[in-house]
Amino acid sequence: MRVPMSSPDINDAERDAVRRVLETPTLSMGAQLTAFEQNFAAYVGAPDAVAVNSGSSGLHLSVMGAGVGEGDLVITTPFSFVASANCLLYERAIPIFVDVDAATGNLDTHLVSQAVKDLTQPRARAARARWLPPSLRGATLGAVRLKAILPVHVFGQPADMTSLVRIAGENKLALIEDACEALGAHYDKRHVGNFGDAAVFAFYPNKQLTTGEGGMIVTRHRKWAELFRSLRNQGRDRSSGWLEHRRLGYNYRMDEMSAALGRVQLQRLDELLAKRERVARWYCERLARTEFIELPALAPTTTRMSWFVFVVRIKRPAQRETVMRKMEQREIPTRPYFPPIHLQAFYRARFGYARGDFPISEELGDVSLALPFSSVMSEEQVEFVCANLIQVVESSIARRRSATTS
Ligand SMILES: *Cc1c(COP(=O)(O)O)cnc(C)c1O
Repeated sequence: MRVPMSSPDINDAERDAVRRVLETPTLSMGAQLTAFEQNFAAYVGAPDAVAVNSGSSGLHLSVMGAGVGEGDLVITTPFSFVASANCLLYERAIPIFVDVDAATGNLDTHLVSQAVKDLTQPRARAARARWLPPSLRGATLGAVRLKAILPVHVFGQPADMTSLVRIAGENKLALIEDACEALGAHYDKRHVGNFGDAAVFAFYPNKQLTTGEGGMIVTRHRKWAELFRSLRNQGRDRSSGWLEHRRLGYNYRMDEMSAALGRVQLQRLDELLAKRERVARWYCERLARTEFIELPALAPTTTRMSWFVFVVRIKRPAQRETVMRKMEQREIPTRPYFPPIHLQAFYRARFGYARGDFPISEELGDVSLALPFSSVMSEEQVEFVCANLIQVVESSIARRRSATTS
């Protein structure tokens, strides 16, 4: 049985919508874009939405919207896909990594609160240094400007937004939600994306909704939305001519084929999410009583989980690396989500990070294993993956036990 890591879920109505665009002369900046943006804002319950060509571009523009610039500090998580921190480097800002909650893998808001306190009190030099990247601890940074908090709703589970909204509000920090993995997720019965100044969603083929490549920014600030529309379109203003560029911008536009696909996918998003949830339930049923496999933990505030991936933890003495290798030999793909960002080669080189800096993120990175997952996965495929996974885990423990007793 062949089981892919992920698969898009595209139907005839979606294929037709893309084909109809191709029969018109408007392949960019047309009616599909506007309709997708409006429908998306309505779905999330946000005042405005701006489509872009990737989640990463959306994060970059949001960071610009918050006025984050060279040398500014932004608190974020090391346990994420690299894009959530890279967007800060694009503006030469400094990511201040704060470790995560061991149960959910989302930012530990007690630590965030401590970090904000230490970084905003001007005389607490030693306390401040603790949060800075190792390579900057000795540097005279002058006035440290903590500008924003950038939480990630990791694997489709909302971060602790009550605390983050309070901390950001009390300290006049911008709050940017990386909701790229969490379209459809509710925190305390409210859709993610409504807590921050801006939030970003992504539509890569493995996400809950896909446009091929694509992303969407939602924001409560009319001025930010206007800025995003200019920045994504080479710095043109709404009123300016095609060859008039008011500011340094980018080509971050979403094309009409992608917008058409997204617009129709959005109409059945709840169906897509329900299908994903059913697959997650099949996994949970089959893996529930397996001693060395830990299932995803949902916080009480997660009133709707949006299943982006299905990530289990391989508990010792079973070894995640061995389990991955054995699964690969059986031609079942798995992924070690996430190797923490601070240990990526260029973060180590630039900021001096090393193993031990964020122990919880590193531990999660060592034991987490994403299993094949999509809305089109069949119960037989889930059964097949689980049967193999249980065998592989149990045989790896049996082998270790016999090795240590002989
Ligand atoms: C998918 C994802 C993004 C954006 O990815 P793109 O490929 O640029 O669309 C950003 N952050 C996180 C956490 C993601 O999972």
